[in-house]
Amino acid sequence: MKDAGRITGEALALGGELVKPGVTTAYIDAQIRKYIEKCGATPSFLGYGGFPASACISVNDQVIHGIPSEKVILCEGDIVKIDVGAYYKGFHGDSANTFRCGKVSDIADKLIEATKDSFMKALEQVESGKRIGDVGSAVERRVLEDGFSVVREFIGHGVGKELHESPEVPNYGTPGRGPRLVPGMVIAIEPMVCVGKGDVFVKKDGWTVVTADGSLSAHYEHTVALTDNGAVLLTAID
Ligand code: MG
Ligand code: MG
Repeated sequence: MKDAGRITGEALALGGELVKPGVTTAYIDAQIRKYIEKCGATPSFLGYGGFPASACISVNDQVIHGIPSEKVILCEGDIVKIDVGAYYKGFHGDSANTFRCGKVSDIADKLIEATKDSFMKALEQVESGKRIGDVGSAVERRVLEDGFSVVREFIGHGVGKELHESPEVPNYGTPGRGPRLVPGMVIAIEPMVCVGKGDVFVKKDGWTVVTADGSLSAHYEHTVALTDNGAVLLTAID
């Protein structure tokens, strides 16, 4: 799974480097696909449930599952969530990040930092004997510190031979509750955080998830393996 994770992380980083004013999300998607295929891997999202692209690219109030398009031209100040999966030798990687297009507002900056930090707080909970509720509550606690909110309708998940496996990994929870973490488990921890309320809906395209109040949203995700020696970020690259 390290190989699938590395390819995923590299493809995501490549996508992030392309985030600039004037670039279309379709262009970024095409480059991500090209990179994944060059590595001998397959984009996990392409065709998944009928999804028409290799990456989900979601801008500003779009939370997740944005469809790359020639019509979406990035502007200065946009915050751009790219979510990538790569399937390699029987296993998937899954990772997402929120990228700044030029200079963004102070609140956008704060949101992006809080989202990443909430992931880091969750990661501290990934050890043998802890439970999924410890992970989710760590995310939400950190997010609430800044007055932001988590999305409850969409959640993290196990990753492996399938892109989405059990257990469910919500961005909320009760400490000490839920499935127990044991070495050998691999989960995607993926805080989705909104400046306003965490209520979301799916647009008419059947995919794009947006905040109901139109507020900005950020996303951060890694595929995390729990080993006998602790947590390992499979999708992190140096
Ligand atoms: Mg993802
Ligand atoms: Mg995921």
